[in-house]
Amino acid sequence: MSVYLVGAGPGDADLLTVRAARLLGDADVVVRDRLVDESVLGYVNPEARIIDVGKVPGTSSSQASINDLLIDLSRRFETVVRLKGGDPFVFGRGGEELLALHEAGVACEVVPGLSSALAGPLAAGIPVTHRGLSRGVTIVSARGANGDVTNFRALANPDLSLVVMMGVEHRATIAQQLLDGGLHATTPVAVVEQAWTGQQRTTRGPLNELGNFDVRPPAVIVVGEVAALDLRSLKVLDVALL
Ligand code: SAH
Repeated sequence: MSVYLVGAGPGDADLLTVRAARLLGDADVVVRDRLVDESVLGYVNPEARIIDVGKVPGTSSSQASINDLLIDLSRRFETVVRLKGGDPFVFGRGGEELLALHEAGVACEVVPGLSSALAGPLAAGIPVTHRGLSRGVTIVSARGANGDVTNFRALANPDLSLVVMMGVEHRATIAQQLLDGGLHATTPVAVVEQAWTGQQRTTRGPLNELGNFDVRPPAVIVVGEVAALDLRSLKVLDVALL
C-alpha cells in the first residue's frame, strides 16, 4: 500500500533515525542497495523478505526495473521499505524512484538518512566548515548522468571545502582540474573510505599527490584546509585554530 524511501545512513546501524528503525521493524518487504551496511539489517522484521538490487557492475538491476519492482511490491504488500545508503535524496536516485511511484499512483514517504557527504568527513575528525578555515561546503558527484566528469576547474575555491562523491576512479583528473583552477598544490586532501564501518580508513596528503593515493571506493574525497584537521585527537591541533 505504501512505499517508504528510507535513508540507512553511512554505515553503523546506530546512525539510523528512529523512524527508519521503526519502519524496518514494520516492513513486509525491504528492497536494499549494496551500500547499506549489514548491521542495519538487524532492525528488519524477521518475517520480512529482503531483496538486494545492489548496483554491482555487471549484475546491477536497471533503474527502470527497480521502479517496476517497487510498484509491483506496493500492490502486494502493506509496507514496502526501499532502503538506501546515506540519504535517499543525496545521489541516491530517491527523486527518480519517488517520481515513478507518484506516476503509478503509489503512496510514498521519504525518510532522511545521514549522508556520507557530511558524516564521512566527520568520521575522520574533519568538520566540513570551521570558522576561519572554511565558510561553506560544496558537495559534488565526480560524474554526471552520462558518465561525463564534472568540471572541477570551476569548483576551485580556497574559501570552501569540497566533498566529492563517487570520485575515487577520477581522483587524478579531479586533482589536475582543481590545480588548473587555481588551488595550491599543498591544499590538504583527505580520502575517507568506508566511513562508519569496521573497514574505515583515512588517507591524507597534499592535492598534487591525490592522483597517487592508494584508495578504493566507496569513499568521500575532502579537499580544503579542513582536510588537515583531525578533531578526534585534539592534541595534534594547532591551538591557533580554536
Ligand atoms: N545516498 C548516499 C550516496 C550514494 S552515492 C549518501 O547520502 O551517502 C555513492 C557514493 O557515496 C560513494 O561513491 C561514496 O562517494 C559515498 N559513500 C557512500 N557510503 C560511504 C561510506 N560509508 N564511506 C565513504 N563514502 C561513502
